[in-house]
Amino acid sequence: MSSGDRTLFAGLDIGGTTTQVVLCADDLTVLDRAEVATPAADGGRAMVGAALGALAPLLRRTPGRLAGAGVGAAGVVDSAAGRILVASDSFTGWAGFAVTDAVEEALGVPAFLDNDVNAFLYGEVFGGAVRGASDVLGMTLGTGVGGALWTGGALFAGPHGAAGEIGHIPGFGDLPCSCGGRGHLETLASGRSIGARYAERTGRRLTAREVAHAARHGDQDALAVYQAAGVGIARAIVMTAGVVDITTAVVGGGVARSWPLLEPFIRAALAAEPPVSGHPIRLVRAALAGDAVPVGAVARARRELTAGVGV
Ligand SMILES: [Zn+2]
Repeated sequence: MSSGDRTLFAGLDIGGTTTQVVLCADDLTVLDRAEVATPAADGGRAMVGAALGALAPLLRRTPGRLAGAGVGAAGVVDSAAGRILVASDSFTGWAGFAVTDAVEEALGVPAFLDNDVNAFLYGEVFGGAVRGASDVLGMTLGTGVGGALWTGGALFAGPHGAAGEIGHIPGFGDLPCSCGGRGHLETLASGRSIGARYAERTGRRLTAREVAHAARHGDQDALAVYQAAGVGIARAIVMTAGVVDITTAVVGGGVARSWPLLEPFIRAALAAEPPVSGHPIRLVRAALAGDAVPVGAVARARRELTAGVGV
């Protein structure tokens, strides 16, 4: 087969500040990539237009036939209809926007839309750290804490698209959360919260990465903040295992870059409070890093098209 016959998939990750696009081969190998600022204040058409504009040169310089496109986006999405349902305040004209219609019209191939955390989990299951696993909790520790569930070999989104949203259930203390609730896992384990918890203890404002650096140099407050995050993450994993009997948890996002610091705290708490099944949870760090969402969006598109399921 010449490279001109190669099947290609496009993956678009439309985030609040940055949009990433990748062009993948059939086996999810990333052949080319680009990044562009998201024009989040200019409406859905401009945002999708910026992503397609970044993709155009990739399509021109990569021989092959585009078969489909996957899109990952922050917020609550209607995956079946390919629309954004709820978007954060940082977006203008994004809620209600028909993303897949716009992408299909521009590219002439079927397109699929997922929430970015669900796309992250697709990526890790099909091309990342938990390849082939059938029952997985995916967690992203970024600005916020996201979660997604993979059960019985398929994504489980639930009737409102909120299944696996482990970042926003109570039982993790009493601190106010970014969502308006209290005592959510996010108040312990997001990048923003790690900085805030450290500032409360010390009066010093650092980023999560800087707190991790301090912890590695023996700063007891920094260690305590990461330990609280690790204990919270472990508890969320055990709670999930008790409800849906997962075998595996995969953790990604910016905070997971401090995995050597975080992992022992999670493992110690999991050992002290094991799942009721008696089967230890396999805990792994995400493997795709910054590519997880666009590659995961491609994995979703490939799965739909291979299974012969239409839009
Ligand atoms: Zn919350």
